[in-house]
Formats: sequence, structure tokens, C-alpha cells
Amino acid sequence: MQVYGLVGNPVEHSLSPPMHEAAYEATGLDARYVTFEPPENEGAVAVESAATLGVCGLNVTIPFKQQVLSAVEPAPLAERVGAVNTVDLRTDPPAGYNTDATGVTRALAHRGVALEGTAVVDGAGGAGRAAAFALADADMTVRVANRTRSRAEELAAAVDEGPGGAATADGLASLRGLLADADVLVNATSVGMDEDVSPVPAGALHADLTVLDAVYSPVETRLLRDAAAAGATTVDGAWMLLYQGVEAFERWTGREAPVDAMNDALRARL
Ligand code: NAP
Repeated sequence: MQVYGLVGNPVEHSLSPPMHEAAYEATGLDARYVTFEPPENEGAVAVESAATLGVCGLNVTIPFKQQVLSAVEPAPLAERVGAVNTVDLRTDPPAGYNTDATGVTRALAHRGVALEGTAVVDGAGGAGRAAAFALADADMTVRVANRTRSRAEELAAAVDEGPGGAATADGLASLRGLLADADVLVNATSVGMDEDVSPVPAGALHADLTVLDAVYSPVETRLLRDAAAAGATTVDGAWMLLYQGVEAFERWTGREAPVDAMNDALRARL
């Protein structure tokens, strides 16, 4: 039997176990997905210990996504994002990936959204970094807006240095102007999580926009309701969560992921 798992603190409300176990069941893979909750500064030790114990792969969540960089060989995108959320432990050293980044682009592609033109990324934390690098790598022009403008500037400068689309930085006061001719908006802030507020003024949303909200609790956020009312295409955060898991499954097993089974398991618990 193969063992996969999630390293985080806390992990008790994670949706990854049912999503991955549904994938094993659908593909007939003899595997289990378990959760590990090491102390706060022990992320790298946890990865090394899991490798010693024969665990095949790990997802990594808060607060360990940066810490585990020292215990893995990060893929180029994960290295640039500066965070790892998926580890393949069967290589030496373990390989680290950032599937939050590919989760953004695959969620958009799943909805038939063309990854071209201009994307506004609201937020410059972990999800914002993942979204900004992934969308720039897809050759989109990226406008990072963040409450703390200096973090937006730091992120945009790092993205701009890379091989893909150009990036600029702004504070949140510029959001309306940034969105006026944009094609995609990603909310990568925690605003809207478990509260009925939106990070973006409803009047700034328009019918030519696709809005991806990284927040998935609730699935239908105020931002997505406002976006739908404005005629925009909407993509909820569960799609991003699904596709980061899909990519992890594919990295670990080399098999095509049973996307529908994983999606059903995820949405049944949201
Ligand atoms: P994080 O690293 O803590 O970053 C939080 C971001 O939100 C920062 O840019 C922060 O701005 C901004 N922010 C927080 N409160 C704000 C407020 N009141 N007004 C404006 N901006 C505010 O968190 P994260 O890991 O990036 O997660 C962000 C969200 O994405 C969470 O809801 C998380 O659940 C979600 N997420 C979803 C997925 C998925 O698969 N769907 C994956 C990862 C994360 P400052 O820099 O100014 O503090």
C-alpha cells in the first residue's frame, strides 16, 4: 500500500483527504491519504522523516510551505514562487512543486478561459504569488494590487524578471482603474472567507472579465455574486483547490487524475 499525506498545522478541517481517497478509489490504486500535524517549525524535518518512513508523497500547507524548501529540490516555478505545496518523496532529494500555481491556470482553462491579455491579481501573499507567477508564465500581463503596496512591488518585480509576461504593482486604491480593461481578476486575499464582504467594489466588475476567487469557504462568495450580476464569467475557489490536488495526484502517480470523482468528493464536503 502506498501512503500519501498532508503536512500542516492545523490540518483537521482539510478537504484533501476525501479528495485524494476518492481518486484512489476511482483508479483502484492501493493507497491511503493521511494527515500529519508537526510542531510549527518542523516542516523540513517532517518531510525528511516521511521520506525515511517510505511515505510516497506529501501535500504541504500553512505554515510549512516555505519551510520545506530546504528539504526538497524545488521545480523552477516553486522556486520562483518561494513555496512548495506538493512533494514527491520517491526521488532523492525529494522534488517540490507549487500546484497552487498550476491550480489557478488549470481552473481557468477548465472554464475555457483563454490565458491571454491582462490579469489583475489582488493579494501578494502565498496565493497571490502563486497566481502572479503562473499567469505571467502563461504570458499574461499581470497587475498586482495589494493592501500593503510594498509587497505588491516586491512580487511584481520578481515576476517581471522572469521569462513570461510583464508585471506592475499598485495599492488597492487603483483597483477600479486596473480592472477597467482587464480580462481576468484573481482574488488572492482572504477577504470574503467566512464573511459576506467583497475585496473589490461591485461597480469595478464588468462583463468582459473572468473572476477567479481563491476563497472557497463559502464557495459562492460576495465577489462571485457581484461578478455574476455584472455579467462576468466566474470560477470559484473549489476549482483551484481541485486542480492543485489533480496536479499533485498526477505528479505522484504518473496517472491521469479522475477529475470528476475528486470534484464530487470535494464539493460534497464544501
Ligand atoms: P496570506 O499569505 O496570509 O495572504 C493574505 C493576503 O490577503 C495578503 O495579500 C493580504 O494583504 C491580504 N489581505 C488580508 N486581509 C485583507 C484585508 N482586510 N483587505 C485587503 N487585503 C487583505 O494567505 P494566502 O495563503 O495567500 O491565502 C489567501 C486566500 O486564498 C485564503 O482565503 C486561502 O484560503 C485562499 N487559498 C485558496 C487556495 C485554493 O486552492 N483555492 C489555495 C491557497 C490559498 P497584506 O499583504 O496587506 O497583508
